[in-house]
Amino acid sequence: MRLPYKGRCKITKLFGTKPPAGVTYKYGYHTGCDFVGITDKTIVACEAGQVTANSYDSDGWGYYVKIKGAESGLTAIYCHMAARSKLTRGKLVAADAVIGQQGATGQVTGGHLHLEFRKKPDDGSTAVNPCMVLGIVGQTGEVEEVEEEMEITKVKFVLPDKKRISVDGFISDGINYTAARKLLEALGFKVGWDGTNVVVSK
Ligand SMILES: [Zn+2]
Repeated sequence: MRLPYKGRCKITKLFGTKPPAGVTYKYGYHTGCDFVGITDKTIVACEAGQVTANSYDSDGWGYYVKIKGAESGLTAIYCHMAARSKLTRGKLVAADAVIGQQGATGQVTGGHLHLEFRKKPDDGSTAVNPCMVLGIVGQTGEVEEVEEEMEITKVKFVLPDKKRISVDGFISDGINYTAARKLLEALGFKVGWDGTNVVVSK
């Protein structure tokens, strides 16, 4: 996996965030991550794979491309590009293949890349957090790469009633469970770590 830009880039909107006033999201939350190129607006493939769509959606994604990742099996969707990509459907691409230039086509307020990774290509509810997939720190601003590659794994939670659940997360330097922690804290829980499990208490 590599970052979706040839040069340096920044994150302007994280996965899972609520829509701004007056905007509605189909799934109720932001199912991708928004990037803006700093030094170069050229968008490149994050992972080697096969192009499964090259299309235009005036109500949403503008000019977009879908690439099914050879290793992750996830479908990456690159949106709002300036023009139709030169990549044809069925083409096999390398991890740094040029997809197109950052643009502002479709439903946008400014130029950026909306990037999604989905388990099922046509179902936004199966989208996973691009920061996890790419192994980057999940905060807005210039993208910080984390030294070791992070893999999505099942993070085990122990609930107050001792019931155990597991959710997608990634482990690095102990554990990072930002998305789930935010959710639980929003629900009024405290979230800790006992060395093996994430412990959730009231
Ligand atoms: Zn977006």
